[in-house]
Amino acid sequence: MTTTADQVAARAKERFDETVARLTEYLRYPAISCEPEHARDVKALAERIVDDLGALGMSHCRTLELDDALPCVAAERMNAPGKPTVLVYGHLDLQPVRDEPWDSPPHEAQAVDGRLYGRGSADDMGGWVSHLAAMEAWLAVAGELPVNLRLLIEGEEEIGSPNLLRYMEAYPEAFEADVMILTDCENPSTDIPGLTVSLRGLMDLELRCESMAADVHSGLWGNAIPDPAVALMQLVARLVDEDGRLAHGRVEVPADWAKASWDVPLGPEVVRGGARLLEGVDPLPPRGRSTAEWIWRQPAVTVLSTTLPVPGREKNAVRRKASARLSVRVAPGQKGEDLFAVLRDVVLTDPPGGVKVELELLQSGGSWLYEPKGPAFEAADRAYEKAWGRPLIQIGVGGSIPFVAMFGERFGDLPLILNGVMDPKTGAHGPNESMDLGVFEKAIVANVHLYEELAALDL
Ligand SMILES: [Zn+2]
Repeated sequence: MTTTADQVAARAKERFDETVARLTEYLRYPAISCEPEHARDVKALAERIVDDLGALGMSHCRTLELDDALPCVAAERMNAPGKPTVLVYGHLDLQPVRDEPWDSPPHEAQAVDGRLYGRGSADDMGGWVSHLAAMEAWLAVAGELPVNLRLLIEGEEEIGSPNLLRYMEAYPEAFEADVMILTDCENPSTDIPGLTVSLRGLMDLELRCESMAADVHSGLWGNAIPDPAVALMQLVARLVDEDGRLAHGRVEVPADWAKASWDVPLGPEVVRGGARLLEGVDPLPPRGRSTAEWIWRQPAVTVLSTTLPVPGREKNAVRRKASARLSVRVAPGQKGEDLFAVLRDVVLTDPPGGVKVELELLQSGGSWLYEPKGPAFEAADRAYEKAWGRPLIQIGVGGSIPFVAMFGERFGDLPLILNGVMDPKTGAHGPNESMDLGVFEKAIVANVHLYEELAALDL
């Protein structure tokens, strides 16, 4: 039996080329939020979207504005009394393209071999345009949406959502909802839809070693005094295991999750291709944990910079001090300060050669761990089953997405459905960013069914 939702999905598929054309037009705006000269493009795109949403049949279409902030677009359609209110979040701003070797013009999207290439195609314009297409189809076929729907499209996500909390404070009604669909996340492959349930947090640390009041002659004093440069490297080495992974502060991951994560298609070939490993270099050995667990659920460390002398600045001297900036990814659910305390113990205990060591926490952003439970997620699984032929698979993100942490903190007791149109080949934030057009179509169809499934719930 063909349901209304099936007819709506069929209409959305018929209109797929028009939807891609709409997306392509939006992608012409160089709405780069980190470059002040493009602030007017962000605003122009926001205004364009407001107009289009009105034409689509949304009401109360407007830009939300705050001083010293780029605008958000908001709109709603609240004609389904007694039904849940769904908030769809996305962002319209883009990463810059400066100094990137693109094969095609980054702001002139082109479809090649089933992928749409253009800055913002997948991050995140395709994410929320997939909802516009679903809405359009519902209104065309059924004359109404099955749920109440709010749209919130941010203009500052790519600069870390510096004003999103202020927007939440200033316009609480624009965020009022029973369930939230946050686009801008990833699918583990073009065949498997992803539900993001965790993020790692991020800490910036400075590790400092010091042993003398001035640099001294390395021939005259070497072997008699502690060398801060060597001590710095020894201390960094202390933090990691034989593979170079952070060896301290690891967390217990629930056995059922750890087991399930072996199913995530993050095999050596995906790592090899995604990270562009050189011939002859292998991904790190799993050592009893899946790659997914290593990337999403365990802490990690990266050396961001050091004060070790660069080429051209050599001299035969033991330098009086040396320091390194470290970036530490905090495991989901782990507290930054707890991990920091562990690491501080490691580097301050018995410092090499007795150098003076300091470890300073420069900044810290929260991790996020979410347990998707309840009818909204069962509804989402049913919708994705219809569109993708399989339910959502729970995935994590190794990075930190400020807007997710903010929604998580503020609305963590609501069902938060995090998905999107990115896949491992998307290359977000880099050259030749692209979206798989098959994923885009499945996302649209999933949205069509998701509204219907959510409408049946008593949230
Ligand atoms: Zn994004």
